[in-house]
Amino acid sequence: MLHNFGSINLDHFYRVPHLVRPGETLASRDYRVGLGGKGANQSLAMARAGGRVRHWGRLGRQDAWARDLLARAGVEVEAIALVDEPSGHAIIQVDDRGENAIILFSGANHGTTEQDLDTHFAAASPGDWLLAQNECNALPRVMERAVEAGLNIAFNPAPMSDAVLGLPLAHCRLLFVNRGEAAWLAGLDEAAAPEALLDGLARRLPGGETVLTLGGDGAWYQCGDQRHFQPALPVTPRDTTGAGDTFIGYYLAALQQGRSVTDCLQRAATAAALGVQVAGAAESIPEATAVERALR
Ligand code: ADP
Repeated sequence: MLHNFGSINLDHFYRVPHLVRPGETLASRDYRVGLGGKGANQSLAMARAGGRVRHWGRLGRQDAWARDLLARAGVEVEAIALVDEPSGHAIIQVDDRGENAIILFSGANHGTTEQDLDTHFAAASPGDWLLAQNECNALPRVMERAVEAGLNIAFNPAPMSDAVLGLPLAHCRLLFVNRGEAAWLAGLDEAAAPEALLDGLARRLPGGETVLTLGGDGAWYQCGDQRHFQPALPVTPRDTTGAGDTFIGYYLAALQQGRSVTDCLQRAATAAALGVQVAGAAESIPEATAVERALR
């Protein structure tokens, strides 16, 4: 079983002629709300890939539909608490030129208590996996308790912040980073060559496995002196939002199914390549049947 201590955000999209100016009241021409948050996206991707994932999270009571949506996709949702707080959410303006401006409120994602963790960890067994991103509070405690409970930690330090540098990263068994996150952790410029980024990550995480994703330039796996490169599939991207989340969910499901590293990388890259051809984040995560077809 994989336990995903992850954010759940509601993304509110407003279509506007221009981004709202100071003091202005602007009418929006269109509105839609969608499920978002790196945590929820990664759970959804893992479930669509056929993996077993239990999501640990918090959601405002009025937004129970988001939990139902995850449940229908096959995510185990008993550890998603419905609370009397606003859900984590984003107010996203998109203007006619495609520019956007976003207000993000972490809401219930930042309300995790020690009691919540008692309940979550009671349902975990040694050898299970614990996945986390950087959008919830209590991350240092979660990692500490995961180590005590004998769980394997997979971590995606997104969105990157200074707080990540204070986490016990050496205890992570598997780290997923994109170019920007790798550069931050390695103390290098984003333009650095992949080999330099991998060397820098190896110095920071001597024991673990690292997967470095480089958008359309593919992905690298590194463990000790072993490295594998997975090219990105040659596709025309339409919207790359959530590419990393799709990649991570598919990679972890393949790992859970006992597949080799090269197979995990290939499945993850194939799923992500299908995803970037479709608009949206959660909506663009492909079904396993589509990925199987593309792999043939
Ligand atoms: P993030 O969304 O976290 O920034 P990346 O941009 O590195 O992550 O993308 C994750 C993976 O998604 C890549 O390693 C690749 O497999 C796939 N991907 C992303 N962009 C493209 C693209 N333009 N063409 C094909 N695959 C892509």
